[in-house]
Amino acid sequence: MIAANNPNLNSWVQIPENSDFPIQNLPFGIFSTKKLSPRVGVALGEKIIDLNALGELGYLKDLDIPTDAFRNSVLNNMMGHSKLAIRDLRQRISDLFVDTNSELQTNTDHHSSILIEQHDAFMHLPIKVGDYTDFYSSEQHAYNVGCMFRDPNNALLPNWKHIPVGYHGRASSIIVSGTDIHRPKGQQIPPNETQPVFGPSRLLDFELEMAFITFDGKPLGQNISTAEADDYIFGMCLFNDWSARDIQKWEYVPLGPFLGKSFASSISPWIVTLDALEPFRVSGPDQAPKVLPYLQYKEEKHLDIKLEVAISSSDFDEHVVSRSNYKYMYWNMNQQLAHHTINGCNINCGDIMASGTISGPEEGSYGSMLEISWKGTRPVRMPDGTERKFIADGDSVIMRGYSSNDKLRIGFGEVKTKVLPTI
Ligand code: MN
Repeated sequence: MIAANNPNLNSWVQIPENSDFPIQNLPFGIFSTKKLSPRVGVALGEKIIDLNALGELGYLKDLDIPTDAFRNSVLNNMMGHSKLAIRDLRQRISDLFVDTNSELQTNTDHHSSILIEQHDAFMHLPIKVGDYTDFYSSEQHAYNVGCMFRDPNNALLPNWKHIPVGYHGRASSIIVSGTDIHRPKGQQIPPNETQPVFGPSRLLDFELEMAFITFDGKPLGQNISTAEADDYIFGMCLFNDWSARDIQKWEYVPLGPFLGKSFASSISPWIVTLDALEPFRVSGPDQAPKVLPYLQYKEEKHLDIKLEVAISSSDFDEHVVSRSNYKYMYWNMNQQLAHHTINGCNINCGDIMASGTISGPEEGSYGSMLEISWKGTRPVRMPDGTERKFIADGDSVIMRGYSSNDKLRIGFGEVKTKVLPTI
């Protein structure tokens, strides 16, 4: 076990019960305040540990990451110092804030410059995203979509159980929680018509996903095996992969998703390290037919992460529309990364790879309005009596996630995005 993951550790910083950010989590993000420029922070309870202040006050000596890596508006520079260096950093932070260590605890003069209230901070997009890849790795989601648009008896395409299907997305429009989006415009075919019209998307949807962020990979031409994949994954965040279903439906043949997807994807601001998630490893589904050798893997590579999606608006408080779990993935991250690089494609520090919409086995656990409303045939009633088939202007979509067992809860916080009318 990684020492910092010990569930018996307590911090001298007060952590509210059921906090997403106990001392065993220590996720990384970028924050600023009225006085402080954007910099690297670590969430602890309701506080943020300012790593730049921690370094400048001499608490991060003997580590392989110089303090100027924390005086930075993205995490990429810090991540460039290797997974082992970040593991040592996380361990050092754990040691400094555990209640049995007095080193920083008794230096009360330093507390106010190191510990920032989260409610005084503004969270930034934590990564300079290089490339963004979106997979399609939930069997229930692929099955549901196949039932709706093709044939329930033949819902999965022939390649689906052989390949972690994916496409290359758009990195420039990845935004952090709290950033509003405008309803996208585009070409679409209205119901019962055959010719396209241009206008605001009528079928704006969320996709409940998780994403992982990579370290630098290997040189072009080499591949990363399923056994090696963990070493190339920094951490994970919540990912709302917005979709304009009507634009997407008209454009996607033959080359796949384009403008129906590229207008925005929203991420949560805290990146939870893969190390912190280790206690929540679970086994995945039996894969039949047997996958090709380069996609086979050993040990437990899936993760038990409870997920939920809520909608709110000015007329009603948050209303949960889905409860799912990341463990329902058919293909795990190790297989996704092995497949992504098997042709020699290189990955870089700061690439984001999203899971694809995560749908659980039963109704109530579907990860998109497309499935929840079954293509608009089963509207969902909101607390104010209005109905939703898809997302309306003024709605906010909120996704939350956490892993838990009887000793520990490791959370992701939330990703919340408000939809404004078309510009
Ligand atoms: Mn997606």
